[in-house]
Amino acid sequence: MEFPIQADHLTLDPSQCDVLILGGGVAGCAASIALARKGQRVTLIERELTPRHKICGEFLSGEALEDLHALGIDVASFGSVPIDYVRLAAAGKAAEAPLPFPAASLTRKTLDTSLIAEAIAAGVHVECGRSVHTLSRTGTNLWRATLNDGTCREAPTVFLATGKHDLRGHARPEDPERWVAFKMYFRLAPTQAAEIAHASELMLYPGGYGGIQPVEGGVANLCCVVQRKYLSRAGHHWESFLVRMQQDCPHLAMRLAGAEPLLDKPIAISHIPYGYIRPTTDDGLYCIGDQAAVIPSFTGDGISIALHTARCASAAYLEALPAPIFQAKLCTALRPQMRLAEFAADGLNNSLARAVLPFCLRVWPGVMSVTAKLTRVAQRTTVAAHPAAG
Ligand SMILES: Cc1cc2nc3c(=O)[nH]c(=O)nc-3n(C[C@H](O)[C@H](O)[C@H](O)COP(=O)(O)OP(=O)(O)OC[C@H]3O[C@@H](n4cnc5c(N)ncnc54)[C@H](O)[C@@H]3O)c2cc1C
Repeated sequence: MEFPIQADHLTLDPSQCDVLILGGGVAGCAASIALARKGQRVTLIERELTPRHKICGEFLSGEALEDLHALGIDVASFGSVPIDYVRLAAAGKAAEAPLPFPAASLTRKTLDTSLIAEAIAAGVHVECGRSVHTLSRTGTNLWRATLNDGTCREAPTVFLATGKHDLRGHARPEDPERWVAFKMYFRLAPTQAAEIAHASELMLYPGGYGGIQPVEGGVANLCCVVQRKYLSRAGHHWESFLVRMQQDCPHLAMRLAGAEPLLDKPIAISHIPYGYIRPTTDDGLYCIGDQAAVIPSFTGDGISIALHTARCASAAYLEALPAPIFQAKLCTALRPQMRLAEFAADGLNNSLARAVLPFCLRVWPGVMSVTAKLTRVAQRTTVAAHPAAG
């Protein structure tokens, strides 16, 4: 899909907006579409000129698919791959179970492109290729975002949706485990590609885990998360890290036998504050997506949470629920799911659990489906002004 944005698409006076949205990923786009469709004048600032590959396993849960459908995004029309079951590999063994909900995979580049296009169609004033440097209050109680070109945008309300990237003065706490994540696309050997058709595989090794699954175009996405000390032991190079992971996880070695890497180098990020939930915020500043909560990646639920928090924050804003109250309610609503996901993540990092897990799952494969279901965000709930809905 071609990216449709040119500077001459900017028809609104940028100073005239009700809501300023910082970050045009999943959460920012979803919120902008919801607000524009309700008649709000929305300006969205995205630092990339065009969507690019992002660190992500690219698994779309049933809840994410439902929210995307409501936004007018039909992932199947972009070539998404249906994912029907999950397979877990550890200690030389593998076990699989059907997913208890419909799921799919689609590259973030395609998904983000379709979301930006939908935002433009909804009437959002989109400014791409501009990075927000600071966000502060003016004397007249507006929020002021200062951009990399020195210009400013002001609005009474801001949605902070910069994902993994923190704005100075609005940062999330440090990540004590010092997680590092990598993503690489591969073209697998035909027999291996057939083995993962319609499957999302989770592979465990000491110090982290990796996921491999098919995405559109006959390509496989390998996305892995490791503690920095594991990376140090592997020598800090992608090639030696990949070798080390395959030594520690023979299942991965089997999948990658004869595979062709499709990117010049992997996409990498560090500082992932897993388990973080923003407890509160300032007046007029709604925090959504990874800026609201960061769920462990193995759940494949981050996109769903981004869409969910965007929907809830938009509804709260439209109902005039003050941002600090919204943020505290959202925090309470997400906490049980986040704690369960963290508990499961701790289990995956435990060497004894890694050794016995595939055996247990073979005996009781249903537990994988149950865990998959329990770590989902509660769908179609909102964090609204009325206590009954909160
Ligand atoms: C290793 C890993 C694997 C994952 N796998 C999955 C998975 O399989 N399924 C799943 O559902 N979730 C997964 N996630 C989580 C998911 O990627 C995130 O939760 C989701 O992308 C959050 O959406 P967001 O809109 O908050 O952030 P993003 O989608 O990252 O969007 C943020 C946007 O803000 C822009 N931006 C940043 N800073 C600025 C700035 N200063 N000015 C302007 N724009 C800015 C960025 O360019 C970006 O486009 C994974 C995460 C990790 C780390």
